[in-house]
Amino acid sequence: MVYDYLVVGSGLFGAVFAYEAAKRGKKVKVIDKRNHIAGNIYTEEIEGINVHKYGAHIFHTNSKEIWDYVNQFAEFNRYTNSPIANYRGEIYNMPFNMNTFNKLWGVVTPEEAKAKIEELKAAAGSENPKNLEEQAISLVGTDIYQKLVKGYTEKQWGRKANELPAFIIKRLPVRFTYDNNYFNDRYQGIPIGGYTQIVEKMLTSNLIDVELEQDFFEKKEEHLKTFPKIVYTGMIDQFFDYQFGTLEYRSLQFETSVMDKENYQGNAVVNYTDAETPYTRIIEHKHFEFGHQPKTVITKEYPRNWEKGDEPYYPMNDKKNNGIFNKYRELAEKTPNVIFGGRLGMYKYYDMHQVIGAALSVVTQEFN
Ligand SMILES: Cc1cc2nc3c(=O)[nH]c(=O)nc-3n(C[C@H](O)[C@H](O)[C@H](O)COP(=O)(O)OP(=O)(O)OC[C@H]3O[C@@H](n4cnc5c(N)ncnc54)[C@H](O)[C@@H]3O)c2cc1C
Repeated sequence: MVYDYLVVGSGLFGAVFAYEAAKRGKKVKVIDKRNHIAGNIYTEEIEGINVHKYGAHIFHTNSKEIWDYVNQFAEFNRYTNSPIANYRGEIYNMPFNMNTFNKLWGVVTPEEAKAKIEELKAAAGSENPKNLEEQAISLVGTDIYQKLVKGYTEKQWGRKANELPAFIIKRLPVRFTYDNNYFNDRYQGIPIGGYTQIVEKMLTSNLIDVELEQDFFEKKEEHLKTFPKIVYTGMIDQFFDYQFGTLEYRSLQFETSVMDKENYQGNAVVNYTDAETPYTRIIEHKHFEFGHQPKTVITKEYPRNWEKGDEPYYPMNDKKNNGIFNKYRELAEKTPNVIFGGRLGMYKYYDMHQVIGAALSVVTQEFN
């Protein structure tokens, strides 16, 4: 088949583009270097449970358009993200809300909670915060910072909180209601049967061919000559041979185990907020879909420094890396017939609804 597009990467960005292009009669080849489709939203069934292989994924959006769009490809359940924090065996509700404040200080009304936070903030006296520690204390006071922010943040970034820049925590959401729902968005849920089916359905068209275990860089020059247009969702610095330097990421290591019990922790997401526990959270996948299978599958998440060749998860959008990215972006704008997209192509942390939105705007530009 003579193709109109090569899509590099079968993650959500590449899949939305391929689906929309095929709907308009275009012929598309999709390649991915992994041995499965769906990129980081890939879910795999283990013991009858849909396991989120690249970390917990909860779909949430305020946009009815995006919600309706994704619901074409799967039915979503009523899952509401309500993580809990485990600090040395003490359990607290997240995000910080009246349940958290009641457990910490015994306060019952919002007025009491506000007064307590103000008292702790005043006692800490952190004006003009110079680092993350001072910033967090100026926002929520020392109690919450010590038990629920410090250890978790230090593990996540691999550095002491007083050595991290203040801007990382612009705000810490504090809610004066007894509401444990992590997100404020209007729509939220988990696709019944997992995420992989969404990408599978997007790529099911006789105008789309998918080839797995194909690294774009093995045939970069040939691809550039063969395909009239390329949608590239890999790392932008790699595309340009790292000529302005390497963009940095934070990485994660996942340790997944099958447990011979029905219920391990009673919640899908438990954050470990002390400094001693080496992982940041444990995911118990069955709770995303209210499962009652006889066994359970859990995943421990360990934050890791990233080195070239590791899986890049979170872009480090600091001044230095954003400066490097801007140079690549200028080059990308001058590269005809290649569209850069997705979290690696744009060097940006995108939630799923944002990546769908970004892909749909590229579709509009391309086909209107
Ligand atoms: C730990 C974690 C938790 C998350 N949790 C949530 C959440 O709860 N809710 C939410 O909305 N979002 C969440 N996200 C974000 C979500 O994963 C992304 O929005 C989405 O996966 C981005 O899709 P993408 O297509 O841009 O990238 P990817 O899914 O990364 O797809 C890119 C694809 O390109 C392929 N590729 C790269 N280079 C090459 C190459 N050279 N040749 C061939 N193929 C290549 C890769 O193998 C990959 O399959 C989370 C992300 C992480 C890391």
